[in-house]
Amino acid sequence: MARWLVHCRPGFENDCAAELGAFAAAAGTSGFARAKAEAAHLIFETAGDAAAGFDPGWTELCFARELWPVHAELALPETDRVSAVLAALPPQARAFSAVRLEHPDTNEGKALSVFCRKFQAPIERGLKAAGLRIDATLEKGRAPCLHLFFIDSRQALLGFSDPARSAPWPMGIARLKFPRAAPSRSTLKLEEAFLVLMTEAERARWLVPGMSAVDLGAAPGGWSWQFVQRGLRVIAVDNGPMDAALLESGLVEHRREVGFRFRPARPVDWLVCDMVEQPQRIAQLMGDWLEQGFARRAIFNLKLPMKKRQAMVAECLVALRTRLPQASVRAKQLYHDREEVTVMVADPGGPS
Ligand code: SAM
Repeated sequence: MARWLVHCRPGFENDCAAELGAFAAAAGTSGFARAKAEAAHLIFETAGDAAAGFDPGWTELCFARELWPVHAELALPETDRVSAVLAALPPQARAFSAVRLEHPDTNEGKALSVFCRKFQAPIERGLKAAGLRIDATLEKGRAPCLHLFFIDSRQALLGFSDPARSAPWPMGIARLKFPRAAPSRSTLKLEEAFLVLMTEAERARWLVPGMSAVDLGAAPGGWSWQFVQRGLRVIAVDNGPMDAALLESGLVEHRREVGFRFRPARPVDWLVCDMVEQPQRIAQLMGDWLEQGFARRAIFNLKLPMKKRQAMVAECLVALRTRLPQASVRAKQLYHDREEVTVMVADPGGPS
């Protein structure tokens, strides 16, 4: 049996559990989740041990913000928490690329964040005094990241993750600063999508000045703004008004047209879409554009006002993967997403 600590958006515990169950089944094992509504985390227990096929990486799951296998459950005496952590480390532990102190992303959990901040220096001092190295540059050499998930200040789960397979931010939360010049807060979704759904090499190849994009449901222009910042030209399709300063950049052409009917005169590098519509209709539209060669790659949101959100996302992803078998289809509920997930479809081997 292996236990995993899984972070998710509060309210999406059941969707996260359903996705983990499906992942376990596909890996030839089974598991069950212990989840409380609105807890922003869950424990997933697999029937076999961790090596028996169930080893999801952070990018392979949509609803999990971060996950790692639990090594030990710790009782932490108030007088000496550091010694309790040291005693629970495996004897072969030598070095960590990071020490992450975590808590549930809930209102109650936020109170624990103060405790976690205060405990960071003492635990790192204690680890170093015990001869362990903590060095971010070891991440490339894949020294494990040490995680402590605090249930409260006296109980924690201890675990380790491979930095190449886990989220680059504590608890999978990408804290991005809202750029004041951006026309809407939505801009953070596309900025986070670029960071989460693409590799550094892909960003360097696929977000290049002079490239072109179509933004469906663009107003007031937060997503278009992300492209303009990177020197791309954008056709912004929306009946609503676009931000005046963004239009003054000279890189945006505003078309007051219906998003479902619009097609560009020439193929574009990017299609993005934030229209509030049924997820299947959006997936169908994205599939049409990519299949017919109107865009090389796409990023779009699937809005999820329904009950069975994980089933809906799975249905849309299967439809896209079936239509575009060569493409890489990646999906994540981003930190800046609400009742929605963000999907990218790209052919990693395709032209840049
Ligand atoms: N991504 C935008 C930003 O960053 O500022 C916000 C988009 S907002 C969530 C959704 C937009 O989709 C609205 O401006 C709405 O007018 C537009 N929209 C919805 N259905 C549409 C359709 N069928 N055709 C064109 N635009 C549509």
